[in-house]
Amino acid sequence: MTANLLDYDLEGLAAFCERLGEKRFRATQLFRWIHQKGASQFDEMSDLAKSLREKLKACAHIQAPSVLSQHISVDGTIKWLFDVGGGNAVETVFIPEDDRGTLCVSSQAGCAVGCRFCSTGHQGFSRNLTVAEIVGQLWFAEHFLRGHLRTADRVISNVVMMGMGEPLQNYSALLLSLRVMLDDHGYGLSRRRVTVSTSGVVPMMDRLGNDCPVALAVSLHAPNDALRDNLVPLNRKYPLAELLAACKRYLAHAPRDFITFEYCMLEGVNDSPDHALQIIGLIKSLADGAWCKFNLIPFNPFPASGLVRSPQRCVLAFAKILSDAGIVTTVRKTRGDDIDAACGQLAGDVQDRTAVHRRIQKQRVVMIKSVGAESGTDQEEPVNG
Ligand code: SAH
Ligand code: SF4
Repeated sequence: MTANLLDYDLEGLAAFCERLGEKRFRATQLFRWIHQKGASQFDEMSDLAKSLREKLKACAHIQAPSVLSQHISVDGTIKWLFDVGGGNAVETVFIPEDDRGTLCVSSQAGCAVGCRFCSTGHQGFSRNLTVAEIVGQLWFAEHFLRGHLRTADRVISNVVMMGMGEPLQNYSALLLSLRVMLDDHGYGLSRRRVTVSTSGVVPMMDRLGNDCPVALAVSLHAPNDALRDNLVPLNRKYPLAELLAACKRYLAHAPRDFITFEYCMLEGVNDSPDHALQIIGLIKSLADGAWCKFNLIPFNPFPASGLVRSPQRCVLAFAKILSDAGIVTTVRKTRGDDIDAACGQLAGDVQDRTAVHRRIQKQRVVMIKSVGAESGTDQEEPVNG
């Protein structure tokens, strides 16, 4: 088995080159070919000596997970289902907006946290993705999009680790993947344009703050421990007081940043004015509201959740209570509804393993142009107090 070069950050690739008896700077050239130009064949790398290309062909390859299907929404959102072996598949979503292009990336096949409102959580945990599988989603999407949009310019300006899985429960692969994304010889994304979203794995939030303080989103979903224990079972291990203290420590690594709290609005569960007032108490008990912002996410239903989306008037009333208290609050507009690409709907079809197996065997890419009329992962709209 040869080495998949998508598994390495620049430091790892330099060590790999040294093991081949090559100078470390060759790694920079190689890294740029792979990530900036999207090369998958060593023969494309014209400024590398033929002897090196031959050596590389013998001991390395560049391989993203293969695409099982691709869906394009009427609103331009694109969802890919990637085969990650063993009957597992993960999803990646590209969300185009006027001023940016955001890629929503998966970190695990399934998820062990088991949040009640999340389709990925309902399917259970299969395994952690490797660096090549995480970076491969970006590698594939960026170079596919350049071809699709006929541009040589970078298309993906932002990455959010909000696809399937809990990124902080796959920490070592996540960290190397973030390094590839941020590296100037890689994707050159700025720290603030890469967001890690977590359900609150407190010790790993501290490590991320030390190692690579990218933008942090914390999935809150409840203003008190009793309710959060029920919705986000990880809360029983890391309750709210510990979670909020970890948020404050995180910001010590990036003092001018803020934490985004995600809050999925569930009718009759966490969406009352009293819940909003409890949030204000929680946030203000630490400091004034300027260190965080709230992103209210309309619940995206899926069969078997037994939960219902809060009506828009409840979401807006909730948002107003928070913004009136000086907490910056946005309501997320769902995107890609017609192709099931919205937050929490990413299931990777793994519930139906036989179907995935069948599709893997056929190894074909299905292009489905959706024709639904609905809007469609998730733009934010500011709420005016
Ligand atoms: N595991 C991480 C990141 C992946 S989930 C986390 O939980 O933060 C990304 C976001 O989608 C989280 O905020 C999650 O709470 C939200 N989400 C999950 N299921 C959802 C659903 N059915 N509707 C709306 N948002 C959902
Ligand atoms: Fe896992 Fe996040 Fe879904 Fe919770 S919301 S089950 S942590 S992917």
